Amino acid sequence: METYDHYIGGERVAPASGEYFDSENPYTGEVWAKVARGNAEDADRAVRAAKAAFDHGDWADMRPTQRGKLLVRLAEIVEREAVRLGELEVRDNGKLIAEMGAQTRYLAEWYRYFGGLADKVEGAVLPSDKPGIFNFTRHEPLGVVGMITAWNSPLLLLSWKLAPALAAGNTAVIKPSEYTSASTLEFMDLVKEAGFPDGVVNCIAGFGKEVGQPLVDHPHVDKIAFTGSDVAGQRIYESAARKIMPVTLELGGKSPNIVFEDADFEAAVMGAISGIFAATGQTCIAGSRLLVQRPIHDRFVKRLIEVAGAATIGDPMSPDTHVGPVTTPAQYEKILSYIDVAKEDGATLAMGGKPYTGQGAKGERFVEPTIFTGVSNDMRIAQEEVFGPVLSVIPFDTEEEAIAIGNDIMFGLAAGVWTSDIGRALRMSEKLKAGTVWVNTYRAVSFMSPFGGYKRSGQGRESGQEAIKEFLQTKSVWIAHETSVANPFIIR
Ligand code: NAD
Repeated sequence: METYDHYIGGERVAPASGEYFDSENPYTGEVWAKVARGNAEDADRAVRAAKAAFDHGDWADMRPTQRGKLLVRLAEIVEREAVRLGELEVRDNGKLIAEMGAQTRYLAEWYRYFGGLADKVEGAVLPSDKPGIFNFTRHEPLGVVGMITAWNSPLLLLSWKLAPALAAGNTAVIKPSEYTSASTLEFMDLVKEAGFPDGVVNCIAGFGKEVGQPLVDHPHVDKIAFTGSDVAGQRIYESAARKIMPVTLELGGKSPNIVFEDADFEAAVMGAISGIFAATGQTCIAGSRLLVQRPIHDRFVKRLIEVAGAATIGDPMSPDTHVGPVTTPAQYEKILSYIDVAKEDGATLAMGGKPYTGQGAKGERFVEPTIFTGVSNDMRIAQEEVFGPVLSVIPFDTEEEAIAIGNDIMFGLAAGVWTSDIGRALRMSEKLKAGTVWVNTYRAVSFMSPFGGYKRSGQGRESGQEAIKEFLQTKSVWIAHETSVANPFIIR
């Protein structure tokens, strides 16, 4: 049995309460780790360590080029440890090793990219309309950034925040999900090995209300970067408003994946499958509303059922598995309850719809890949995020109708379009209200490309050059170089 303590000021620190909680392997159901159960006292300790590191000492004095070198060094260490980190993630969140391994091998790119960007943040010398005064801008770090992450891709979601925040010169207090704390806590050893001064990066484990909320409310936390549900995101946004504190919020989605009759049929089928059954549907960008143009609707659904029906379900550590367990018991219950809701609302169950107990299944964590047809966009199954392997298929006739249905939702994280008509691809990408639009592909993300939500899917952007601005504030500096006695009673 592993035991994980907090990481504060460069040291492993036992929780103030002395309490630990269990971390389970979702596939075997076994408790494999004990994790520090943080509270407000732990949050305070971590924030004080981060504030001290921000205010004075090696990090505060460090030039951006040196910060960049530390990030590049971290990238090399992360690359070396990618396989181990991937296995650790699977043990905690039960997602496929194929998926988590690909994520952890890709992680290093965020540290390398933002390491390179650290010394390319430039202010401007501004033209002045005031004789004798020189005016320029500086982009400065915010201070202590609280980073709160979800369980579905712990290290990827963390790296989207940590790499730009450190490149910008901030310090960090991280609160990973209570379901998947181990990989983030182990990641702290890599941060230390890379040579970041103590206190620059801290990590406290525990539950949202017990340690996450005190972190958000702490007077010395200057920003929260959050990934999670829209419900928790809203609560954090409200708390942040009381402090007038900036936030980035990466929240849920109910993304439309739209297939036109002129699409490459087989590619679109695979895109639809990848949109909903990859990661057992436990991904914010799930293409959980599949809009199919009516002339190909029945043939498309038939082929979807064939492909999904052939998926191998079972052990996430096996490279041959396509669909793994659901990560948490609460999530499992939620998925099954939404299947009932869809049936009650009159959707037609075309495939699946119950717990999977066949070969490869263990415990009560598997749900069959499920497809509902005859869904209308006003049903709850089309409007609410399930976060599981449940697809709603909605037929449509025209491009205008597809846009109207696609946008008739409170979320706006992503959208997919499948067509061979370039004009239609461009029109759709312009009209769909989502932070990401994929045409003839799905689930592509990169350290170079901004990612984030429209509407209730969030605030701010992660990745790409603009992500670093989320962790900076602009100062305007005015220097008078000619002394003239101005009238002190009027604005200059
Ligand atoms: P969640 O909102 O339940 O929890 C997320 C994190 O917030 C956890 O660390 C939790 O402990 C913490 N938390 C909860 N309440 C808090 C509070 N009051 N104060 C401070 N912290 C609090 O979400 P989850 O179930 O872990 O993750 C699934 C959700 O995350 C889905 O809605 C999914 O769409 C979303 N998600 C979004 C993205 C994205 O980039 N947009 C990526 C992955 C997941």
